Amino acid sequence: MLTSQTQDVWDLFLQFIEERCSSTEFENWISPIKVIESTAHKLILQVPNIFVQQYLIDNYKKDLVQFVPVLASGEPAIEFVIAEPKKTVVQAPVITKPEETAPQETSKDHYELKLNTLYTFDNFIEGPSNQFVKSAALGVAARPGRSYNPLFIHGGVGLGKTHLLHAIGHTIKQNHKKVRVHAITTEAFINDLVDNLRNKTLDKMKKFYRSLDVLLVDDIQFLQNRQNFEEEFCNTFETLINQNKQIVITSDKPPGQLKLSERMIARMEWGLVANIGIPDLETRVAILQHKAEQKGFKIPQKVAFFIAEHIFNNVRQLEGAINRLSAYCRMMGLDVTEEVVERALSELFQMAPSKRVSVDSILKSVATIYEVRVSDLKGNSRSKDIAFPRQVAMYLAKELINDSLIKLSSSFGGKTHSTLLHSWKKISGQVATDEVLRKQIQMARRNLEA
Ligand code: ADP
Ligand code: MG
Repeated sequence: MLTSQTQDVWDLFLQFIEERCSSTEFENWISPIKVIESTAHKLILQVPNIFVQQYLIDNYKKDLVQFVPVLASGEPAIEFVIAEPKKTVVQAPVITKPEETAPQETSKDHYELKLNTLYTFDNFIEGPSNQFVKSAALGVAARPGRSYNPLFIHGGVGLGKTHLLHAIGHTIKQNHKKVRVHAITTEAFINDLVDNLRNKTLDKMKKFYRSLDVLLVDDIQFLQNRQNFEEEFCNTFETLINQNKQIVITSDKPPGQLKLSERMIARMEWGLVANIGIPDLETRVAILQHKAEQKGFKIPQKVAFFIAEHIFNNVRQLEGAINRLSAYCRMMGLDVTEEVVERALSELFQMAPSKRVSVDSILKSVATIYEVRVSDLKGNSRSKDIAFPRQVAMYLAKELINDSLIKLSSSFGGKTHSTLLHSWKKISGQVATDEVLRKQIQMARRNLEA
C-alpha cells in the first residue's frame, strides 16, 4: 500500500529530476513510471516497457539511491513490473503523436526528412582540419553506397559534423530524386523505437528503416549503454549495408572509444573513419567572414582575425559571436572595430591556454618518452624507432598548437605540410585502438601542460 510518506520519496525524486532534464525527456521516459508499492525497504515501480526501466537505471541510478531505499550492495531497492499492454491508462501519452493516431499514419510525416537548409557543401568552409572528411563526404554524396560505406565522422562539439551529414543528404536528394534518404538523430531513433514498441508497430518501423537507400545517423554516442536499442540498430545497420545501402554516422568519439558492443564497433569501422578537427586560424577567419556575409554583415579582415584568435575551438561559438556582434552594432549604431568587438564579445572570448605549447617543447617531451634525440626527430631518418616518435610529435603539434600546417611542419626540420597531415591522420587512427600509444600521448600532454 502507498503511504503518504513513501509516495513522497518518489515525488521528491520526480521534482529533483524534472529540474535536471528536458521536458521531452521527462514526458517520454520519466512520467510513464508509476509507483505500485513503496515501503521503507523497497519500491515497486510499474514501467510501460523494459526500455523505460533500463533508461531510468542507466541514467539516474546515482540520483535514485539518494531518494529510494538501498540494498546492502548499494543498488537501489527497486522492483520493476512491466505494465500489461491493455492498461493504456497507466501509459504516458506519446509525445510526438497523440494517443489516438493510427499507427499507419506515423510513417509519412513522422519520418519526414528534415535537413537544415543552411547545412550545404557550399556553406561549408574548407581548411586543413576538415579537408579530408569533406572530400569523403562529397564522395559518398556523389556515389551513395558505392564509395565509403559506412562513412563514420567523428570530432568535438560544434565542428561541423551535423553540417556535413545534412550536406550529404541535400546533395543526394537533389541528384537522385528517387533515392529514399532518411536523417535521424540517435535520440530520435531510440524514441521511435520506444513509440513503436508501445504501439506494437515495431515490424512497421523495421520495414521502413530497411527500405531506405541512405540512412544518416547523427550523434551515435547516445547509443552507448542502451543494449536493447543497440541490437536493433545493429540489425538495421547490417541489413542496409548488406544491400549496399549507404550509411553515414557521426559521433563525438572514434568507434573504438565508444562504449558499444564489439560487433557494433567492428561494423562501424568497416568503411571509412574520418576525423573533423579544430579549424586553424585562417579557416576560422574564413568561416567568420562567410557567416557574416550570410547575414549581410561586413567585418574588416583585421577584426575577423581578432575574433578568431580569441575563439578557437568551436565553430558554433564563432557563429554565436557574429550574431551577437551584428546585433550589438546595429542596436548601438556602431562600426565594427576591435574596441567594439571587445566590448560586445569579451565574455565569449576564451582564455589562451595557460601555457603556450611550442613545437620545441613537444619535440623535447616526445624525445624523452621515446628515448631519441630531438635532432633525430627533426632529421630525415626513416628508421621506425625514429619515424614513429616523429609522427607522434607531429600529431601533438597539430592537436595542441593553433597554427597553420605549413608553419608547424617547417618547425620539423622543413617537412611538408602533407607529411604532417599524413602523420596526424595515421596517429589519430591508431590512438583509438592502441592503448600503449594512448598512454604515451597522455604522458606527453601531461609533461607539456605541467
Ligand atoms: P557538430 O555537429 O559537430 O556539433 P555542427 O555541424 O552543428 O557541429 O556545426 C555547428 C555550427 O558551426 C553550424 O552552424 C555549422 O554550420 C557551423 N560550421 C561548422 N563547421 C563549419 C565549416 N567548416 N564551415 C562553415 N560552417 C561551419
Ligand atoms: Mg551535431
